[in-house]
Amino acid sequence: MTTKISIVYDDQASKGFITGWGFSAVIEKDDNILLFDAGWDGIALLKNLEIAKFEPKKFSHIIISHKHWDHIGGLNAVLYQTNNPTVFVPSSISSRLKAEITKFAELREVIDVKAEVTSGIWTTPQMKTDIEDLQEISLLIQTKKGIVVVCGCSHPGLDKIIELANEYGKVHAVIGGFHGFEDLNYLKNIDVIIPCHCTKKKNDILVKYPKKSKKCHSGLVVTFE
Ligand SMILES: [Zn+2]
Ligand SMILES: [Zn+2]
Repeated sequence: MTTKISIVYDDQASKGFITGWGFSAVIEKDDNILLFDAGWDGIALLKNLEIAKFEPKKFSHIIISHKHWDHIGGLNAVLYQTNNPTVFVPSSISSRLKAEITKFAELREVIDVKAEVTSGIWTTPQMKTDIEDLQEISLLIQTKKGIVVVCGCSHPGLDKIIELANEYGKVHAVIGGFHGFEDLNYLKNIDVIIPCHCTKKKNDILVKYPKKSKKCHSGLVVTFE
């Protein structure tokens, strides 16, 4: 029942991977392979997926956290190669974007309650942000040591996302963009912290929690039992 999370799009990268602004990760759990967000550049994303040995046609689910360009830019390049996956989006995204996704995939709109993606994996409800018309969803994955939270930009506030995730179990890990999150003490009870692209306090987090934080980059693989 291992959960494996591979970072495939970030502004930092292992040798061979392409860097770019945005975020994307592949999550493998049981027989499911999920893509979370799609970075900005589809060509770069496809290249990184190829290097990491992922075939888009095997993606069972795609989760889009929010409508920003650095999370959806690579989506259509990937969708062309998929085989009718289920795509989860915040229901507040534009109807035009929904219509485009529907050409390739089964669309699931997340409203104000959490949505089960597959066994042991949920999205949060769509959460409000301080940007007008922007709502965001994050992913909650059940593991033996607690909930692993994967987030896009954390515009609703990382503390609010963690607070909500705590309702489903102890939060074990947070991975993704933390945006303007500043209250680093709030992370003291979390065992694994991986701040990615837009995290303003990325270096401060790595310095404050040297043992339990990791530098995010394409090519990074983390596993959870
Ligand atoms: Zn972002
Ligand atoms: Zn964003």
